[in-house]
Amino acid sequence: MIRLEALGKTYQTGAVSLEVLKGIQLHVKTGEYVAIMGPSGSGKSTLMNIIGCLDRPTVGEYWLNGQRVSSIGEEELAGVRNQEIGFIFQHFHLLPRMTAQRNVELPLIYSGISKQERSQRALEALEKVGLADRAEHRPSELSGGQQQRVAIARALVNHPQLLLADEPTGALDTASGERVLDLFEQLHGEGRTVVVITHDPDVGKRAQRRIRLRDGEIIEDTGAPEKEGAS
Ligand code: ADP
Ligand code: MG
Repeated sequence: MIRLEALGKTYQTGAVSLEVLKGIQLHVKTGEYVAIMGPSGSGKSTLMNIIGCLDRPTVGEYWLNGQRVSSIGEEELAGVRNQEIGFIFQHFHLLPRMTAQRNVELPLIYSGISKQERSQRALEALEKVGLADRAEHRPSELSGGQQQRVAIARALVNHPQLLLADEPTGALDTASGERVLDLFEQLHGEGRTVVVITHDPDVGKRAQRRIRLRDGEIIEDTGAPEKEGAS
């Protein structure tokens, strides 16, 4: 599903250039649950932004579902981002004035489906994260853990192939974080591909495969788990 080949990223700020990712080589198969780990500043968010088609590599190739996304146009890239990837962020990124249900509907606004179907799909997604009874609540009326589960429902509503989470438990207490991780485990069990970026070893432990970054390089990869019929 994800194939990164000799990928690098250099940020240019005025006269200063900073090589943040170097020679990244990574293959993730459909249905894997992967944690990308490493200390602060090691390049995790930069890598997530590239995998999520929010940013582009400076060098190297990125293939997503057989499409070479490192070389497609801006508009096409936005399409891939909206259709194929569900994002989960540390600070939820919910719109404060909208109800949980409206927040979850957001990714469907430009999809051309009817208002009624949008509502129904949002409710289904909220049900999946155990928050159907909070559909009419605004973010300020929900706990942090509940807000993150609303954000997960929003990430799921488009039925994306890939769920991409950057420090999803970073702003949560232990119990709420566990609940979010339980949800990822469940989604993985249903065959979704989950990539979690974290500096927290306890979060990493829950994944099937751990990839460790240091100074922009992969220094450890526990590898894709063996699967019958996989090469
Ligand atoms: P992590 O998520 O592992 O903490 P980041 O990918 O956020 O690491 O950052 C890696 C390095 O790249 C850091 O030194 C950071 O300061 C730098 N960096 C991140 N984003 C930018 C940017 N937009 N412009 C310049 N430097 C950046
Ligand atoms: Mg980060």
